Amino acid sequence: MTDLTARQAELAANLARVEERIQSACDAAGRRREDVTLIVVTKTYPAEDVRLLSGLGVRDVAENRDQDAAPKAAACSDLPLRWHFVGQLQTNKTRSVASYADVVHSVDRPRLVTALSSAAAHHGRDLDCLVQVALDAESGDVGARGGAAPDTVGDLADALAEAQGLRLAGLMAVAPLSGPFADRPAAAFERLLEISTGLRARHPAATMVSAGMSADLEEAVAAGATHVRVGSAVLGERPRLG
Ligand SMILES: *Cc1c(COP(=O)(O)O)cnc(C)c1O
Repeated sequence: MTDLTARQAELAANLARVEERIQSACDAAGRRREDVTLIVVTKTYPAEDVRLLSGLGVRDVAENRDQDAAPKAAACSDLPLRWHFVGQLQTNKTRSVASYADVVHSVDRPRLVTALSSAAAHHGRDLDCLVQVALDAESGDVGARGGAAPDTVGDLADALAEAQGLRLAGLMAVAPLSGPFADRPAAAFERLLEISTGLRARHPAATMVSAGMSADLEEAVAAGATHVRVGSAVLGERPRLG
């Protein structure tokens, strides 16, 4: 233990607690642990933390702002990591994001499909893409935290499936803060899984369901999430604006 920095020990302890929570949630749901992937959300934390997490066995990390993610990914390009982009995305950032991201969770409008497709082609890369579903959005609208209304998911999924350089991998959602699912993460994630079932009837390979954060990963695993995105429970509480 003597060569562990204090931060590394802290991250290791936090990771162990999150690991226990995921394992218990899998046990309770009768699911296998290997069917749920932990993505550690490193936003607002420095590249040094990403490096420590990699040393602790983390393989999937996520960021939500290109300005922070691009230099961090560059500083960690020697590490065996998959980078997930989970934030609201402007079309003028797609070229940068496509240079380091392996998975984009936040596709919520047709223009983003077009922009990501040409960005992927520009870099000669293939990107896994998820449609972000806004469970709080009315028909045709967008959600308060990004995302497409449930009734537009099918068209976006078809567009992703057709787009060069992009692979339709599945769906992502954040538990809504308002609307009928406010403070009801279990119901929200069950609705997401229903939408996913509908999607897979048409796109059988789109199996990813990205749902659940530090506060509600148990509800997400119970509903059937394949990927949980956990930030503060691993890295610590962020300052308010993270
Ligand atoms: C910040 C963030 C997370 C992680 O949230 P925590 O509550 O810190 O676990 C997950 N998903 C998205 C889209 C985020 O922006």
